[in-house]
Amino acid sequence: MTMETTTLLIIGGGPGGYVAAIRAGQLGIKTVLVEGGQLGGTCLNVGCIPSKALIHAAEEFHKATHYAGEGGAESALGIRTAAPSIDITRTVAWKEGIVKRLTGGVGALLKKNGVQVVRGWARILDGKTVEVTGAEGGGTGAANDAGGQTTRIRCEHLLLATGSEAVELPFLPFGGNVVSATEALSPETLPGHLVVVGAGYIGLELGTAYRKLGARVTVVEAAGRVLPAYDDELARPVAARLRALGVDLHLESSVLGLSEDGKSVRMKNGGGEEVAIDADRVLVAVGRRPRTSGFGLESLMLDMNGRAVRIDNQCRTSMRNVWAIGDLTGEPMLAHRAMAQGEMVAEIIAGKRRHFMPAAIPAVCFTDPEVVVVGLTPQDAAKQGLDCISASFPYAANGRAMTIEGTEGFVRVVARKDNHLIVGWQAVGSAVAELSTAFVQSIELGAQLEDIGGTIHAHPTLGEAVQEAALRALGHALHI
Ligand code: FAD
Repeated sequence: MTMETTTLLIIGGGPGGYVAAIRAGQLGIKTVLVEGGQLGGTCLNVGCIPSKALIHAAEEFHKATHYAGEGGAESALGIRTAAPSIDITRTVAWKEGIVKRLTGGVGALLKKNGVQVVRGWARILDGKTVEVTGAEGGGTGAANDAGGQTTRIRCEHLLLATGSEAVELPFLPFGGNVVSATEALSPETLPGHLVVVGAGYIGLELGTAYRKLGARVTVVEAAGRVLPAYDDELARPVAARLRALGVDLHLESSVLGLSEDGKSVRMKNGGGEEVAIDADRVLVAVGRRPRTSGFGLESLMLDMNGRAVRIDNQCRTSMRNVWAIGDLTGEPMLAHRAMAQGEMVAEIIAGKRRHFMPAAIPAVCFTDPEVVVVGLTPQDAAKQGLDCISASFPYAANGRAMTIEGTEGFVRVVARKDNHLIVGWQAVGSAVAELSTAFVQSIELGAQLEDIGGTIHAHPTLGEAVQEAALRALGHALHI
């Protein structure tokens, strides 16, 4: 057994852990990062990046299919093309190439900043000691392969960044044709019929992609509508588009399990009837839960918040010098939140005064159309007793939206009635993900409606809908 000591020991090299390590390295803190899987964590390997790559490939294929089919003859754009085909192996290889470039980049950044990467699974012995055993394969960048032997590392600060895992349904366990997002992102073949259990953002992003790649898709959701965590006005265009694409939606329905021959999914539909739907593959996307077991975390007896590790607004746990960030600490489980927390913890350890108090954290669904929520919705504001005004500007009145055939959707602003301080933005439509930057900056900088209404926005852009929503809330939108 080898022994090492360090100032900061990070368990988990996802966006939370690797960003903390890079910042700590920049600040001259002696840092060891332990990663049992791949650098980049869920986000780069089996989450944000690969899903967006697959969504893009599916969209391109779908466009080509549309122009080749009846859509070609009727296409207002006058484009017609021959029937396309797709080699899914090459698509997956292209996606893997992006993942490799990004994870390799993370390894290089860690090396450049003097972070020691230890490859292997960490086991917590106490709040200052961790044991790492057995690494799988070679590391990236400055990796130290623990290669079967055990390394014991003592630290002054322990940062937990072990992320989350897909929730498994006991009556529909993963294996065979029942897959999680991880397997769905690397298909060897396309299924004839994919049943997606769960109409949250992960299920819908992947379900839409598979549909556009040519699979028949059925979505089963226990709630009465898709994207149940989002407000109805935002979810409605997404549901309409799913139906237009030919996705079968079974709402208020619960899955009971697989049939005996494994070829169909049994479920109870909205009317209470038990029915079976044939399925070549079943994607279970019913949520993620913090990864808190299997590595000795329990032995620390930390205060918990349900299944998540409880933290304060500096990401301190209930034990001195034990910190936690990212999905391990619960909702919102988003990569950019994990990164922001990681950067902050490194700075606090370096002696800077920091607190995690963002004015807002954007959430984006890369569905079709995309959905963005930043800050408070009108309903949230009402619940908090804030007297607010809100106004929407439809994409149908935006020139740029017309030129990209994306007139479905709107941008909505929520602001305090008394001083016009903007407290929230919501949008649904083409490319609204890219508007999230403008939304979150306006809230973080404390903008009022007049600031956004009075800013010259480039023409013709979708961003003009942002300015017009602010003007509309002030009662004088120009283009509607
Ligand atoms: P993770 O990224 O999960 O990383 C944790 C790391 O810790 C892993 O690499 C794991 O191997 C390692 N680890 C765990 N235990 C140990 C141990 N004992 N020893 C050593 N290593 C260990 N978020 C967004 O913001 N935008 C999106 O578009 C988006 N899309 C997503 C799509 C999908 C399909 C999925 C599944 C998730 C998506 N997410 C998205 C969520 C995002 O991936 C997570 O919020 C983010 O990765 C959390 O970062 P993290 O650092 O907390 O944990």
